Amino acid sequence: MLTCTMTYWYPGLFTLIDFFAKYFPKKPLYIGGIYAKLCLKHLENFIETNYPWLRWDIVREDIDTFISKLKETYEPSGKPFSHSYPAFDLQRHIPYVVILTSQGCPFSCPYCASKKLYPYFIQHEPEEIIEEISFWHQRFGVLDFAFYDDALLVNFEKHLAVILEGVLKRGLRVRFHTPNALHARFIDLEVASLLKKTGFTTIRLGLERIEDRLDQKVTLEEFEKAIYSLFKAGFNSSNLGAYILFGLPHEDFDLVKRTLWYLEKLKIPPYLAEFSPIPGTPLFELAKETSRYPLQEEPLCHNNTTFPALKNPPWEVIHEIKNLARGIRARFKTLEAS
Ligand code: SF4
Repeated sequence: MLTCTMTYWYPGLFTLIDFFAKYFPKKPLYIGGIYAKLCLKHLENFIETNYPWLRWDIVREDIDTFISKLKETYEPSGKPFSHSYPAFDLQRHIPYVVILTSQGCPFSCPYCASKKLYPYFIQHEPEEIIEEISFWHQRFGVLDFAFYDDALLVNFEKHLAVILEGVLKRGLRVRFHTPNALHARFIDLEVASLLKKTGFTTIRLGLERIEDRLDQKVTLEEFEKAIYSLFKAGFNSSNLGAYILFGLPHEDFDLVKRTLWYLEKLKIPPYLAEFSPIPGTPLFELAKETSRYPLQEEPLCHNNTTFPALKNPPWEVIHEIKNLARGIRARFKTLEAS
């Protein structure tokens, strides 16, 4: 079972396919992950051209259904692994554990692949998540947990609130982090207070832009209300951060600067997220027109470090903006330290 996350990481996957085709030619390969789902034709071309005899398939279904199907075809050959969570315990030291309480997102932002990868938004049972957190904390002493959900706060009362109440009830003293942005629109004082009480330490919010929004996920009013609630609940700038998307087709770099200054005024450290065109999204289609690269044919060209959606990236302005963001974050750090 092979996977590949970013579309432009496919050379690593191809190296593995070469390896298995050479040394285990009779074993079937199951390939999942973002690249395989979004660039299936590209993957098919590679395998059909180089290993037309290979037995392989794409993992299209959710992981539980896939594993059940696999078990019907191949009888497990040994003792089952001692637990069914991702095997973080294969590491000598577990610095943190990743938790996914849901799949997908009810929003449809035109630059995001969430809907394409997970057409349905599914939340797992809160009790299962409490068990999972408890397992890693009590068995392995793990303190830090990073939620990788796309939409952690949706349906808060019936989902995350239940999980966090469960964590409190069991007396688990842990720290939570949300490197994937939270939806600011769902944060009021009650939500922020529960996050604070249960050990949330790193909170990232998705802002993206302050004008010409491409999505419906948050208004500036909702964003500011969320910031007010988070500060009131006891968080400080060092716990918080907001993402700004930049490098979009026809990017307005002055708007990016204004977004940085806006966050500085709110005392929120800014984090720039360079745009990567994702196949199957409306912005990918637009980026194909504005890019200097063959985005459709070559997934390597999706690499966001090259600002692939732009014909002529203005590198000096880009460096200036990156330095501006770094400078604002550094100023907050110094302020917090003093
Ligand atoms: S809200 Fe976030 S996860 Fe959901 S579609 Fe928009 S960018 Fe993607």
